[in-house]
Amino acid sequence: MTANLDTEIQFEIHPSQARVPAAERARRLEAPGFGQVFTDHMITLRWTEERGWHDGKLEPYGPFTLDPATAVFHYGQELFEGLKAYRQASGSIVMFRPRSNAARFNSSCRRMAMPELPEDAFVRALELLVTQDRDWVPEGEGKSLYLRPFVIATQQGLGVNRPSTEYLFCVIASPAASYFGEGKTVKVWMSEDYTRAAPGGTGAVKCGGNYASSFAAQQQAVDKGCDQVVWLDAATREWVEEMGSNNLYFVYGSGTSARLITPELTGSLLPGITRDSLLRLAPTLGIPVEEGRISVTQWRRDCASGELTEVFGCGTAAVVTPIGAVDGASGGWTIGDGTPGPVTQRLKSELIDIQYGHKPDPFGWIYKVA
Ligand SMILES: *Cc1c(COP(=O)(O)O)cnc(C)c1O
Repeated sequence: MTANLDTEIQFEIHPSQARVPAAERARRLEAPGFGQVFTDHMITLRWTEERGWHDGKLEPYGPFTLDPATAVFHYGQELFEGLKAYRQASGSIVMFRPRSNAARFNSSCRRMAMPELPEDAFVRALELLVTQDRDWVPEGEGKSLYLRPFVIATQQGLGVNRPSTEYLFCVIASPAASYFGEGKTVKVWMSEDYTRAAPGGTGAVKCGGNYASSFAAQQQAVDKGCDQVVWLDAATREWVEEMGSNNLYFVYGSGTSARLITPELTGSLLPGITRDSLLRLAPTLGIPVEEGRISVTQWRRDCASGELTEVFGCGTAAVVTPIGAVDGASGGWTIGDGTPGPVTQRLKSELIDIQYGHKPDPFGWIYKVA
């Protein structure tokens, strides 16, 4: 692999000559949904064994032309990231913890035998795109510009015994409303037929393959009348790992005695940046947090006894998603009274307040773009 100093990675700017007109953009920003609307530009950057990272561009958003024998279509060597840019009350546009995404991207690259991208170049690519398309960062609580960096294997040929010798890194941006309905809880299905990740596998990596193999379980959850699937550990199906593409938090007690527990990172869980943010934020609010193990048996028993009061999922897209009820092959139960709990709501609003600049950021999470 060619060493590649970050200073060598340049992005040429090719502005679009066919931007979406302002009135049409405003219309699209009103109710953007999630991942449906895209901005005027994208970032592309290529890697080959001979040249390392090269040919960086900010260019008009548009389709790729790829040979049908391109490696990613066959063997799924691909990974991605997800983070958001926010328009704060002061008018500033900021990103939330982009360096953490850069670091996770590179740890994913190592697991997928793909070339790492210097963190500075990763962050600079995001910053360039957000700056160029800043008019696409929606205004209003809960709205944001979702950023999707990803990398695909672009070598042509069907040889399967080694990783690709060529890659394409790309960043696209999509204005987003909040992902789940506000003020509601979701119902989860504990999957015993399917697992997401096994020891030694790619559970800690944000790769498309993890998603491809999860859809059948998500479909089953919906068939069972639930909103989301809960993943149990592959070996014993006893330890609770994640919810869909969210990490999980369990709230014990209430009021000033409330405390949190989140499943520890065993290697088969995705190390969420929202999870990590809550791990650091909660103690500053007087809520102790612990990383540990929660079994299905304990989840059910402690809800029945009333000790376990709230459960929520967390991730970039929806921030915090309260869970109201659990179902599974051997029956289900309600969490608390089935409505969003006070600890869940407080953590959500405290984190959102930092993201939107309503409260100071003592953690250094906010990265100002413009
Ligand atoms: C992305 C993702 C998360 C959440 O990570 P964030 O960095 O908080 O967005 C959790 N679980 C899975 C499986 C994921 O893919």
